[in-house]
Amino acid sequence: MDVWDGQFPEVTNRTVSFSCMHCAKPACVVVCPEQALSKRGEDGIVVIDQKKCVGCRSCAKVCPFQIPQYGRAGVMQKCNLCMGRLSDGKLPICVITCPGEALKYGTIEDLSEMSSGKSAEKLSSPTEPSFFLSGRMTGTIFLTLLSSNK
Ligand code: SF4
Ligand code: SF4
Repeated sequence: MDVWDGQFPEVTNRTVSFSCMHCAKPACVVVCPEQALSKRGEDGIVVIDQKKCVGCRSCAKVCPFQIPQYGRAGVMQKCNLCMGRLSDGKLPICVITCPGEALKYGTIEDLSEMSSGKSAEKLSSPTEPSFFLSGRMTGTIFLTLLSSNK
């Protein structure tokens, strides 16, 4: 996703890898007519039950970041924060494979602490994304923080 900042002619553009933000107020969950999407109470991860999904794509329309994707099987798919790995005590794949170590994982409290002093901001949206983006002021992304919250 392209992130634009500033006003002409002082404009900056960065390309940011966005996956599901596991929002505190997920519009996708609210709109789903089949209750196929839910936010887990224990860790705040927003998950899709593909057995319930009918492929209406309503979730994709309301997600501010266009995260849910229509898959070949006729159902939606999106990041589940590698919840299977997390339950085994491992980090999400994106975090361990990013060559620039730009992605971090933790609770909202962890990320808030990690981001302090790094010009990081919690991404703003009515859905309250669980995501901090750093480097906004300088136009350089040096740290992007992922989290689930409740
Ligand atoms: S980023 Fe989009 S798909 Fe993910 S929880 Fe928020 S509204 Fe739902
Ligand atoms: S596409 Fe599937 S998950 Fe999305 S709103 Fe429709 S039924 Fe729910």
